[in-house]
Amino acid sequence: MSKKTPNIFKMAWAFISEVFKFVKTGADITDRATFAKRWSTCITCDDFLHKSSRCSKCGCFMKVKAKMNTAQCPKGKW
Ligand code: SF4
Repeated sequence: MSKKTPNIFKMAWAFISEVFKFVKTGADITDRATFAKRWSTCITCDDFLHKSSRCSKCGCFMKVKAKMNTAQCPKGKW
């Protein structure tokens, strides 16, 4: 069975929430090591969509989200 992203409203809400937190805390970007750790967790996760580099739980593009210091994995993996 193929994995699907959440509907457009849930994805929009997840994205807006993450961007709001990110901007509110000064748009803090992760350091390289943190990003690398998050990225390696995502690419080995069953919920990662390899074709689009998105998370099937939140619908976010993980190359962007994983760089936001305030962002959190929806499954608590990072
Ligand atoms: S954010 Fe979490 S649930 Fe989504 S792909 Fe990454 S590790 Fe998996």
